[in-house]
Amino acid sequence: MGDTTNRVALVTGGSRGIGRATVHALARDGFDVAFCYRSDDESARTLEKETAELGVRVTGSRVDVADAESVRAWISATEEEFGQIDAAVTAAGITRDNPLVLMEDEQWHQVIDTNLDGVYHVCRSVVFGMMKRRSGAIVNISSVAGVYGHGTQTNYSASKAGIIGFSRALAKETGRSGIRVNAVAPGFIETDMVAAMNDKARKEALSSIPLRRMGTAEEVADLVAYLVSDRAAYITGAVLQIDGGITI
Ligand code: NAP
Repeated sequence: MGDTTNRVALVTGGSRGIGRATVHALARDGFDVAFCYRSDDESARTLEKETAELGVRVTGSRVDVADAESVRAWISATEEEFGQIDAAVTAAGITRDNPLVLMEDEQWHQVIDTNLDGVYHVCRSVVFGMMKRRSGAIVNISSVAGVYGHGTQTNYSASKAGIIGFSRALAKETGRSGIRVNAVAPGFIETDMVAAMNDKARKEALSSIPLRRMGTAEEVADLVAYLVSDRAAYITGAVLQIDGGITI
């Protein structure tokens, strides 16, 4: 998308971290943005205020992406309010780490329901409008864990690998309708999700990253903004790693 005036983007998990930085980046690029989040009302209201200064419409709604009916209702209200959805970015995600031998069913299902079903619910709802307009860009946030696997994260790694298969299949299915679908696979990014790491784990992680630092949410958001733009018009079905070289 070159001129993004009146273009509309949907972002899940917009209240914090990578989703929040993505809302900022897309608003900066001229998109009106509808974002959702699970619980952090305060951050959502602050984000609305910050981005309003950019002269675009930004609205945040409390929607659990694991709940199909809530997602459908949110997306149809957004299409009604904004007219259409040109781009969708699925950044909502959680971790519930445990070695498999200790994994509780609830931990498994929470992660799959949010990370993988959440992507299905959003894409299922936006794709029809995009097909009708023969235009659209979807970016699903995966993880290097979905490419290589992380110990104690069988649930998370499975959900993120699922996102990659899903995105590639959808890219094949909808390319002829003018829709591009890509996945972004970040390594360690400085957000609340990695803030819980203890010093030892952080040190170990840093020593295995050739660039010797974690990435920022803004760096991931810039890649996402590029992927939804016309500059990436010939990119679909790609899995772009942004990981400081950790997977080399
Ligand atoms: P974060 O800082 O923990 O933020 C997660 C966001 O997702 C929050 O806005 C949260 O809303 C929202 N969310 C969580 N569950 C939700 C649900 N059921 N429905 C709607 N929104 C929900 O996470 P992050 O680090 O930015 O991660 C963003 C994405 O990147 C995730 O998919 C994650 O797996 C992926 N990723 C992150 C890293 C990393 O190192 N940080 C690496 C690879 C991949 P509330 O604030 O309201 O709870």
